[in-house]
Amino acid sequence: MKTLIPFLEDMRSHLGTNYRKIVADAGYESEENYEYLKKNDMASYIKPKTYECEKKRSFKNAIGNRENMTYDRVTDSYICANGKRVECQGTKKGKSRNGYVTEKTVYACHDCAGCPYKKDCIRGNNSKLPLEQREKHFEVSKRFLELRAEDKERIASEEGKMLRMNRSIQSEGAFADVKETQLFRRFLGTGHLNALTETVICVLAHNFNKLHHKIQNGTQGRYLFPLKNLA
Ligand code: SF4
Repeated sequence: MKTLIPFLEDMRSHLGTNYRKIVADAGYESEENYEYLKKNDMASYIKPKTYECEKKRSFKNAIGNRENMTYDRVTDSYICANGKRVECQGTKKGKSRNGYVTEKTVYACHDCAGCPYKKDCIRGNNSKLPLEQREKHFEVSKRFLELRAEDKERIASEEGKMLRMNRSIQSEGAFADVKETQLFRRFLGTGHLNALTETVICVLAHNFNKLHHKIQNGTQGRYLFPLKNLA
């Protein structure tokens, strides 16, 4: 997650330009990354961390998940499975290692006493308070939700699907080639310089191989596979 911005800064310093569309897997999702991409005029195509599990029945049935509560924009509160309000308590700020400031809104329900859903709704078995005395609370960054919603719209589009499929082929395929075909499993030398040298040789070999295959198959100039090729 913390490597995305340095990667992109490094690429820009070498290429002198930004890529306009950034496709990355769920490990790269963060508000800071979304915000950085937006500010630098790059569209994010990042799979949200919860993207796959949101489709699962277990996630949809988990009444304690904020996503399964009804949000009331007027009062800035959520309505829980027991029909009670989980209300806004205020905000708190946090700062990342890079100095990015995020603001989270804290929500809590003060009406949880005697709730029959409590055991399923309130998680955290490490709490010293007995369950009867506990209340539901969670915190969320509204800005993060906003940016994630924009991102989700992009990745669900036809273009988004095509780009994600190609990311998977290109990056995961490269790892597979290096590890399985070239059998490159560990560095032979020690130290940064030796590791970098071996990496460059390994990457060159991969790229030569790829170019060779492209020439053999007459597919030079084709950078992306269309979606219809997805079997
Ligand atoms: S524990 Fe509280 S928030 Fe959860 S369902 Fe019951 S009343 Fe609602």
